[in-house]
Amino acid sequence: MRWESDVPLDSLARYRIGGPVQRLCRPKSLEALRKGLREASDAGYKILGTGANVLISDRGLDCSVLVLRGELDYVRVENGAIEAGAAARLPALAGTARRLALRGFHFLEAVPGTIGGGLRMNAGSRDDWLWHCVEWAELMTPEGELVRMSPAEVAPSYRHVDVPDDWVFVAARFSAPKGEIAAIKEAHMSFRERKVRDQVYELPSIGSTWKNPPTPYPSAWLIVNEVGMRGAKIGGAQIAERHSNFIVNLGGARADDVLGLMAETRRRAREHFGLWLEPEIHFWGFDPECLATVGAI
Ligand SMILES: Cc1cc2nc3c(=O)[nH]c(=O)nc-3n(C[C@H](O)[C@H](O)[C@H](O)COP(=O)(O)OP(=O)(O)OC[C@H]3O[C@@H](n4cnc5c(N)ncnc54)[C@H](O)[C@@H]3O)c2cc1C
Repeated sequence: MRWESDVPLDSLARYRIGGPVQRLCRPKSLEALRKGLREASDAGYKILGTGANVLISDRGLDCSVLVLRGELDYVRVENGAIEAGAAARLPALAGTARRLALRGFHFLEAVPGTIGGGLRMNAGSRDDWLWHCVEWAELMTPEGELVRMSPAEVAPSYRHVDVPDDWVFVAARFSAPKGEIAAIKEAHMSFRERKVRDQVYELPSIGSTWKNPPTPYPSAWLIVNEVGMRGAKIGGAQIAERHSNFIVNLGGARADDVLGLMAETRRRAREHFGLWLEPEIHFWGFDPECLATVGAI
């Protein structure tokens, strides 16, 4: 396996934030992935999709990162189903369903990232999740064994699946029944229009920062507004005016800027609502004290 050293992760992550990783490889097949996992498992590894949901520390990572590519990037339509490799993009899955009038994928319009990241995060909206469409997903264990899991086995919940952290999604099969073309196109386009209008696409972000708290609390974005943090800025990071659950990179933002905004928001939410907000995003390369300030541990 060809390993690159000291690769700056801000160039690979959607947020354009993150220091260098010690070792990085880009496996293009299952065999290459198996080899990469074997070579990386001693010092630990992480799988990076497009980084559309990960905040990476400014000082970088002293483990290995694997980025899936090549043969693991495919979307194939079969009888009543779509099969996709973990490196394929969620927009390719949504686009395929839209073009071929396959039901059940409208909520993936304008959701950036890979199939692998989407399966790990159980990507979706409040009510529709990727795992609602999954028939099975295939994973590789650190020892290189392939394991097929059903939705019942991974027990999907809001932005979470019960799968060991070091298992790697490599493919999935999604149930995709044929629908009525005009109705499907309309569902996709109206979902996309609303999302692009209400959320932030013109600046780098990693989507919703906080999970929505349970009822009777208001949505996370309303809480951020109520505590006066909408539009707040630290360094190059800003809580977006248009959608206050997004923190955007105005240019040159550092992970510490984002953490600072999160910690202050969380402190104020506790004070005003008696509630500890929980982050939706993942954090790489931070020490436990830092993570505690934003509720990540
Ligand atoms: C503008 C914008 C809008 C968004 N809208 C939504 C939305 O509507 N709904 C939603 O749920 N999310 C949304 N997100 C967040 C993001 O799109 C999703 O979480 C997406 O699934 C992340 O995919 P990724 O490939 O970039 O994963 P990454 O961010 O690279 O990784 C996320 C996690 O998944 C793990 N991972 C990645 N690939 C694999 C793999 N093959 N096997 C095992 N683990 C893996 C990583 O290690 C990490 O822990 C949005 C983000 C942005 C920037």
